Amino acid sequence: MERKVTWETYDEEQMKELEALNREYREFLDNGKTERECIDTIVNTIEAEGYRELESVIESGAKLQKGDKVYSVAMNKSIAMFQIGEKPMTEGMNILGAHIDSPRIDVKQNPLYEDSGLAYLDTHYYGGVKKYQWVAIPLALHGVVVKKDGTIVELNIGENEDDPVFFISDLLVHLSAEQMKKTAAQVIEGEALDLIVGSKPIHIDSEKKEEAEETDTDKKKAKELVKEGILGILKDTYDIEEEDFLSAELEIVPAGKAREVGFDRSLILAYGQDDRVCAFTSMRAMLDVKETQRTMCCILVDKEEIGSVGATGMNSHFFENAVAEVMNLNGEYSELNLRRCLSRSCMLSSDVSAGYDPAFASCFEKKNSAFLGKGMVFNKFTGSRGKSGSNDANAEYVAHLRKIMDEKGIVWQTAELGKVDVGGGGTIAYILAVYGMNVIDSGVAVLNMHAPWEATSKADVYETYRGYKVFVEGASM
Ligand code: MN
Ligand code: MN
Repeated sequence: MERKVTWETYDEEQMKELEALNREYREFLDNGKTERECIDTIVNTIEAEGYRELESVIESGAKLQKGDKVYSVAMNKSIAMFQIGEKPMTEGMNILGAHIDSPRIDVKQNPLYEDSGLAYLDTHYYGGVKKYQWVAIPLALHGVVVKKDGTIVELNIGENEDDPVFFISDLLVHLSAEQMKKTAAQVIEGEALDLIVGSKPIHIDSEKKEEAEETDTDKKKAKELVKEGILGILKDTYDIEEEDFLSAELEIVPAGKAREVGFDRSLILAYGQDDRVCAFTSMRAMLDVKETQRTMCCILVDKEEIGSVGATGMNSHFFENAVAEVMNLNGEYSELNLRRCLSRSCMLSSDVSAGYDPAFASCFEKKNSAFLGKGMVFNKFTGSRGKSGSNDANAEYVAHLRKIMDEKGIVWQTAELGKVDVGGGGTIAYILAVYGMNVIDSGVAVLNMHAPWEATSKADVYETYRGYKVFVEGASM
């Protein structure tokens, strides 16, 4: 079975739309390099299009009716959006879901130290990373420091051209004879991923220095003059102290903006496309569909890369609670109606798929691989070693999707994540499937997924956006 090449199906008008959508997508990536930054960007975008915060609607005592748009944010890291449809919610919703956390390196709670004239932040990586890919590249520091009094200090350093950047060192090749014999998993150890943040000792005049060396702590301080210098800058610039790191969430990500790739500018190279490519296209599809029979819903969640755990991960009841609140404002809520709504819903659990890479052909099975430029991807199942841990979508549901996608001329393909037994991966699909709803994995093919810079095809971004629109507009099965 051959699948179409998406590019070949576009007329001039569509090419313009494709470029405009991808420009907006690149901006979305540049503005959202952490979950919190993504939520800020999403809330700003959807409020401008008429979405109201669920909590404020509850407070106002207003009711919800057809066409109303509401959203609920969990701890600034996850969001659920709803647009009320014509039919009762009890008949089910059309749900788009994706995640907005991405692999990266997090700063530890007691991170700052000095060694041999260099100041470092100690780190703990987040999600599945090839650690050797994160050394010797410019890195930016994003996140929040929450002070004891509740003040939130936002940090975003390394993105503007005149910002400083940070980096993790690698061993020079001249001395790497031993290192090069190690396996790739051990070339750079987890504890070696410490970020270089400074090297200039603070200037202390000699009189003060003598005074300072009176106690043991002072002696140590006087020795760690680079670290003292950094602490001085943090105090002056952000009004934060060393102890404030204890209640901080700081993420180290590749510095720089999303870029177009190739003489033909057909691809996008950027950090965090897993899974912000599906988050962006899902959100955009929700905003561009004006009226629907069934209620539309979009959930963009945190913590997928570490197993969908925690209060902001898909396993939390945050989403179910939001649906209950919406049904309550709709006049439909009962425990039974909530269950009916969820079990009768259909979902596209959207996440990136492994794009076929000719350079690593032996890891793929070509007939069942996703190709860049061949459109939206459906994965009937994911998982590993005999589909373990996967949500295996129902054939009836797949047939329904084939029908509605083909009717609207969406270019799509099906894929597995690599050859059988070569590896595998999971998504949020199985978590929603617990409600008894139809769920399938879908999304965009990516090259070098989880690397600091990941690549997607502009045509796939556009086609997936079109596919999501068809899905939310589409009738139930
Ligand atoms: Mn993902
Ligand atoms: Mn991932």
